[in-house]
Amino acid sequence: MHYLSTRGDPERKRFCEILLEGLAPDGGLYLPEHYPQVDVATLARWREIFNQGTSAARRDSTQPTGYAELAFEILSLYMDDIPADDLRALCRKTYTPEVFGSAEIAPLKPLEPGLYLEALSNGPTLAFKDMAMQLLGNLFEYELARRGEELNIFGATSGDTGSAAEYAMRGKKGVRVFMTSPNGRMSPFQQAQMFSLQDDNIHNLAVEGVFDDCQDIVKAVSNDLEFKRRYKIGTVNSINWARLLAQVVYYFAGYFQATQTDPQKVSFTVPSGNFGNICAGHVARMMGLPIEQLVVATNENDVLDEFFKTGVYRVRGSADTFETSSPSMDISKASNFERFVCDLLGRLTHDEGGVSGHNANATDKVKFLFGEQLAKQGYFDLSADPHFEQAAARYGFASGRSSHADRLATIRDTHQRFGVTIDTHTADGLKVAREQGLGITKPPMIVLETALPIKFAATIEEALGHLPERPAKFEGIEALPKRVKVIPADVGVVKDYIQAHCPA
Ligand SMILES: *Cc1c(COP(=O)(O)O)cnc(C)c1O
Repeated sequence: MHYLSTRGDPERKRFCEILLEGLAPDGGLYLPEHYPQVDVATLARWREIFNQGTSAARRDSTQPTGYAELAFEILSLYMDDIPADDLRALCRKTYTPEVFGSAEIAPLKPLEPGLYLEALSNGPTLAFKDMAMQLLGNLFEYELARRGEELNIFGATSGDTGSAAEYAMRGKKGVRVFMTSPNGRMSPFQQAQMFSLQDDNIHNLAVEGVFDDCQDIVKAVSNDLEFKRRYKIGTVNSINWARLLAQVVYYFAGYFQATQTDPQKVSFTVPSGNFGNICAGHVARMMGLPIEQLVVATNENDVLDEFFKTGVYRVRGSADTFETSSPSMDISKASNFERFVCDLLGRLTHDEGGVSGHNANATDKVKFLFGEQLAKQGYFDLSADPHFEQAAARYGFASGRSSHADRLATIRDTHQRFGVTIDTHTADGLKVAREQGLGITKPPMIVLETALPIKFAATIEEALGHLPERPAKFEGIEALPKRVKVIPADVGVVKDYIQAHCPA
């Protein structure tokens, strides 16, 4: 398998080459040259592998999980420059009941006939980002050891991403994490999660400022190419192809749990921000997973809902980006969206795969839209482009948005009717899923549960009048000793800190 840029750069790369990279040299994102096709026989075989492994791990929690075995089947199609035995071992080491809390890894919870939640939030940081980040930690350690290299991950977080990265990289050889966050602005639970880590390779930098100040510092450091090279600075942001790929697995796992035979259909609703999670659903569908609808759910920051309704993609400035009660979806632009647009504009001449290279009409247009139009005028408009209609008709996309009041009502309703407490992001998904119309005449609808309610306790209390349940392993974490350095919002101070903590 080779990977190519969405903006047409002709260089073809292998998986391990793009694993540690961010953007392609032309500013585009990497996509595989084709999507491997999964026929009905393969689907049936994978179902068997998943079911057998899951039963085995239920009986004996030291056995490899069905999820790990399924992950290997899927990932080996894309990561074909890692020897199969090594990749299988990495999958088995990552997806264990010990780390993810059950033999299913991503269990399906029925709410009512035809409606399920897929639990993706039982990993170390209680949000779905662990599903991919835990694998990324093991892949990074493996690849860095193979190359005899080191990497310093430097990033900014307002919550979920930074903690998922730290829990994935803690104790890993060859990797250090330097994570900036706005001092005092994360929830006490989130601060406790991150700052209680005592691992030598994890560095928490609490910046006196807001999230934008942290991001500005990250940008300034990234633009200093000499510093970046010298201190081997990398990132783990959501455009990383390996992260996206790891997320493809739970679409298959959800499908196998919701259906009995192949090829029945299902639909998914995905609480969305940077379009990484649902883009993985798109990849699964392109591979042949029988997905009827892929429903994008946004909060008040409705950049994506606007696009799927109107064909206009209009990125927001920071003044138009709202702080909401589903904060992990508070985005002004969706960093993975370019990948889908490249497919939408027809980069593959045949969806069946087998094609090599990208259709230059598509990549030229992506380059123009994302490289020029967005930068110049802040939006692009595909409403008159015949490809836009295909978003729904051919790729199954639909969308909706949710507000704070919707969120509260959905949390309350779900608690009253099913005795289930959901988090604010999952509530956005469930609200939008219901708008699509549910029922036994339609394919089962699977809503991805992207976080546990304890992470957003204040809003749960507002909705239900009481705090959500706290998983036992998080009892009292606020009282644990904290390892964090408070620093001014100053690039020089951050660079000095990095210099002092890693050999050049
Ligand atoms: C990151 C995140 C999202 C958004 O996912 P994207 O891949 O950015 O679309 C939704 N919910 C939660 C809880 C998250 O942490």
